Amino acid sequence: MTFSPLAATIVCGVLICLSCSSPRIQPPEFDGDRAYDYLVKQVEFGPRVPSTEASAQCRRYMCEHFSQLGLEVDSQVFNHDDSYSRSTIVMVNVVASAWGESDAALVLMAHYDCRPRAEYASIPELMEKPIDGANDGASGVAVLMEMANLFAARKPPCRVDLVLVDGEDWGVTGDRENYMLGSREFARRGIRDRYRFGIVVDLVGDSDQQIYREAFSERYAKPLNDVIFETAARLGINTFYDSVKHPVLDDHISLNIGGVLAADIIDFDYAYWHTELDTPDKCSGESLANVGRVLAEIVYNPHLWPEK
Ligand SMILES: [Zn+2]
Repeated sequence: MTFSPLAATIVCGVLICLSCSSPRIQPPEFDGDRAYDYLVKQVEFGPRVPSTEASAQCRRYMCEHFSQLGLEVDSQVFNHDDSYSRSTIVMVNVVASAWGESDAALVLMAHYDCRPRAEYASIPELMEKPIDGANDGASGVAVLMEMANLFAARKPPCRVDLVLVDGEDWGVTGDRENYMLGSREFARRGIRDRYRFGIVVDLVGDSDQQIYREAFSERYAKPLNDVIFETAARLGINTFYDSVKHPVLDDHISLNIGGVLAADIIDFDYAYWHTELDTPDKCSGESLANVGRVLAEIVYNPHLWPEK
């Protein structure tokens, strides 16, 4: 581990980081229990498979949540020419923007779609059935929905776009062309120079949480990955392990290809991945809060951000 704890002192309620001389801003508190409720609510709609009623209901729920908190909500509707069904599938990304003081902008991203098939189901009859996606999908969205509460409580230092993408998990195993559809569309519309950096959160709700440095993030966005893991260590969050483990094709790839430095916070050691058992009882508010606290700390403290 390369991190060494920084000496700090409290002055007028603001922690001063002695080694970098920038005041540490204490972010608003991330409520893990409330985030967990957002996870459960999404699952109650049923599997949020693209272009289904459950997906539309979940989208309405997310949009209302963000609007009520004063975020500006926009959507990106796009057609996917689906090679599996030989039909056109309509997919929708949601972009909720919290406005801050400066011109800079950050993007935080999660996928809200559910995998349409559970290829690792415990019994063969379930392998073609969609998953509930409590951790694979709903957990990342739940974290970003709770982040919106923080932004409503206190303006972030710059604009933050919360991007909930569709169609991340559409592809059959091995068919790379049919994954990350929503984030590809988001990037295709032009993101270069629009964001200082981006962080994707995926599979962040496992109650047995183990988050390692994801290998593509390490390769393409190491300065940002350093910030994430140093921040987790400084906050004393012991479910972040400071070593590289899995390479995961996820939405951060689309952001990096689009020209935005982006890392993926992901716990890829999830026993129920792509099974019918990916349900809320496997997840916890505490795990959501571990990730949410790291995000909040980074967003509210520009002195931590990687160099441009
Ligand atoms: Zn998945």
